[in-house]
Amino acid sequence: MTKQTKKFYQQTRLERLTTLTSEGHLSENNQALFIDSPLLKEDVANSLIENQISQFHLPQGVALNFTIDGENKIIPMVVEEPSVIAACSNAAKIASRNGFTTILEKRELIGQVILKQVPCIEEAKQLIETHVDTLLVLAKEAHPSIHQRGGGLKEVRVSILEDHTLTSEQFLTVYLMIETKDAMGANIINTILEGVTPFLVDLTKGTALMSILSNFNTDALVKATCQIPFDDLTTSTYSGKELAQKIVEASIYAKLDPYRAATHNKGIMNGIDSVVIATGNDPRAVEAGAHAYASRNGRYEGMTTWSIDKKCLIGELTLPMAVGTVGGAISVLPMAKANLELLNVSTSEELARVIICVGLAQNFAALRALVSEGIQKGHMSLHANSLAIQVGAENEEIEEVARLLRESPIMNSALATNLLEQIRK
Ligand code: NDP
Repeated sequence: MTKQTKKFYQQTRLERLTTLTSEGHLSENNQALFIDSPLLKEDVANSLIENQISQFHLPQGVALNFTIDGENKIIPMVVEEPSVIAACSNAAKIASRNGFTTILEKRELIGQVILKQVPCIEEAKQLIETHVDTLLVLAKEAHPSIHQRGGGLKEVRVSILEDHTLTSEQFLTVYLMIETKDAMGANIINTILEGVTPFLVDLTKGTALMSILSNFNTDALVKATCQIPFDDLTTSTYSGKELAQKIVEASIYAKLDPYRAATHNKGIMNGIDSVVIATGNDPRAVEAGAHAYASRNGRYEGMTTWSIDKKCLIGELTLPMAVGTVGGAISVLPMAKANLELLNVSTSEELARVIICVGLAQNFAALRALVSEGIQKGHMSLHANSLAIQVGAENEEIEEVARLLRESPIMNSALATNLLEQIRK
């Protein structure tokens, strides 16, 4: 972003939108959409969910300073928590010398057909393995268009799982690896699964327990890395090397202690969920996959790994990322479509690459603050605005009450109420 006379965060909302448009990030149409933030059309809102009674608003901001695989990105984030966007933008700025790099090797999602009461389970397993061609034909018939797009069923794996606790029941599970191209893919997968299940039941003489996608998408991993020179980490209290070492220790600790891992990962998901929501994707699916992946070693662990190489701090985050740029609510929500344009992404892979970098940046911001000045300083400073609104401040009063709160050694609602009364006098 080019240098403005006023910093982006100091601009009014309309000035920010004008800046984004004049710099070519926003089209005139999307600028108008963001200015008005219109409600969804009633028929759209009413058909998206059941028992609809209203529409619920959340603020949207943008994170700045990101360079991802050599491309500058403006990142839309929908989030109600103060300081998430500021922290993310600041982290991206510190990491901007080398930016973020991503790796995405393949993007196949997983569906499961779970069979029970299979009479000769070992033979049935082998039988399925010799009928993969039939499964491919049936999958194509169940969802021709995804196969025409170059996606669809790519691979079949079969496992026998046994319950050792209550029933000693054995299950025969057929895992179908399905490429869903630019869709998140839940409906595509479920359609294919239901298309192949009767054949599998017939072949194995078992009973179908269920056929459903898995959110543990280990064949749709995306990895972000960043490399931050010590020089860019130096603060008034710490040398860059000292700070880097503390960040490494913090990430090691988050792998050891699930109590810390949960909060470490919550910070990562602050960034990830905000972009997932802004682009109309399903945050519950992404969360489920991320936390399952964090438990893949038999213990719930911190999702990031930080290490030191020569004179740099190196960060890594790998997660499954089942997001789409079409389908689901994405194509129905005008703001989601506008945000994909703002991000300048058109494929699900490009979107996954952006989201994983935001997660890594968010973790860097949190760890950097936690091992140095603590997070409350930055957090409470931004929380001051929410506190001012909570006690009834309006328009210019909000910034005035927040400013006075920030100058005060303590910050609470009683003080905010007092300050508001004084201003109004
Ligand atoms: P959709 O069925 O809405 O969208 C997929 C369809 O988009 C495709 O079948 C295809 O239809 C069309 N399409 C157009 N362009 C493309 C392209 N480039 N690549 C791929 N498809 C394209 O949604 P999904 O299958 O993505 O399912 C996502 C929804 O499912 C989300 O709303 C999610 O919340 C929900 N869900 C999630 C579950 C979970 O996570 N456990 C469970 C159940 C539902 P065509 O070829 O006909 O144009």
